Amino acid sequence: MRIVLLGAPGSGKGTQSKLLIEKYNIPQISTGDLLRAAVAAGSDLGKKAKAAMDAGQLVSDDVVLGMIQERLGKPDAKAGFILDGFPRNIPQAQALDAMLARMGQPLQLALLVDVDSEVLMKRLTGRRTCSSAACGAIYNIYFSAPKAPGKCDKCGSTLAHRSDDNENTVRSRLQVYEKQTAPLVTYYKAQGKLRTVRGTGSVNEIFKNVTDIIEVQMRPLAAAMSAASAAAAKAGGGVAPKPAKPSKPAKPAAKAVAKPAKPAKPAKPAAKKKPAAKKKPAPKPKKKVVKKSAPKKAKKAAPKKKKAAAKAKKKK
Ligand SMILES: [Zn+2]
Repeated sequence: MRIVLLGAPGSGKGTQSKLLIEKYNIPQISTGDLLRAAVAAGSDLGKKAKAAMDAGQLVSDDVVLGMIQERLGKPDAKAGFILDGFPRNIPQAQALDAMLARMGQPLQLALLVDVDSEVLMKRLTGRRTCSSAACGAIYNIYFSAPKAPGKCDKCGSTLAHRSDDNENTVRSRLQVYEKQTAPLVTYYKAQGKLRTVRGTGSVNEIFKNVTDIIEVQMRPLAAAMSAASAAAAKAGGGVAPKPAKPSKPAKPAAKAVAKPAKPAKPAKPAAKKKPAAKKKPAPKPKKKVVKKSAPKKAKKAAPKKKKAAAKAKKKK
């Protein structure tokens, strides 16, 4: 499955990503990691990235997308990937869509881990870390407070409050996130690919909701799309009398792509078309020439439809 993860700092999306990696055995692709690896390896893209960074510039989207494309070509990404931290804006999202379409691997899901900003504030500003490097225990004064204020339960060392966890810094980080992500949420919603999971409750509860989204909504959709195109091909190739007709059964398949929520539908229209298609050749059995040539054309038309359905899939 091919997923983009969206979520604020402190939303816990990193934890959910780790669980997804384990459960589905797909890699998480982080652009930061890719950049570091490419620069270290001295690849062409790495050199370009390093030149930009040395000049104090941002690495261009082209370079980042090139790295993502290279990464997606590796065997462990065959079954899918989780993209985290990219895209960050609409142009990047569009460029990513275009690249994935060229690769025949369009995104299937944009998963937003949603947490109220007040909860995020508490999660981030309430964080306290044990100052003993050997211990490193983490607390939160709102959600998992130590028994004695400012003292580690495990080792008794003082608890430290990181300077970038102060209220002003956190608030501006959250505002930056909000500004960046809101347009992306709209973008993926318009594509019908956005699903939102509440990021509050236990890690396992949240993960259950995440996997429900994947199992209940994404998988049947993928299955329905391939079943619909197979059914459309069967209905079109087998019985369709005229080359003009077979284009009809293909339409439900295209609709299935547009409506991810209703995976059951596309198969039915295709099945219903079957008897209809059988009836239609009936009025013209007298013209034997037509009857002979028709199946040939229909067969030729069938693969075209498949391609059209595949194209539609890629586009979406
Ligand atoms: Zn400690």
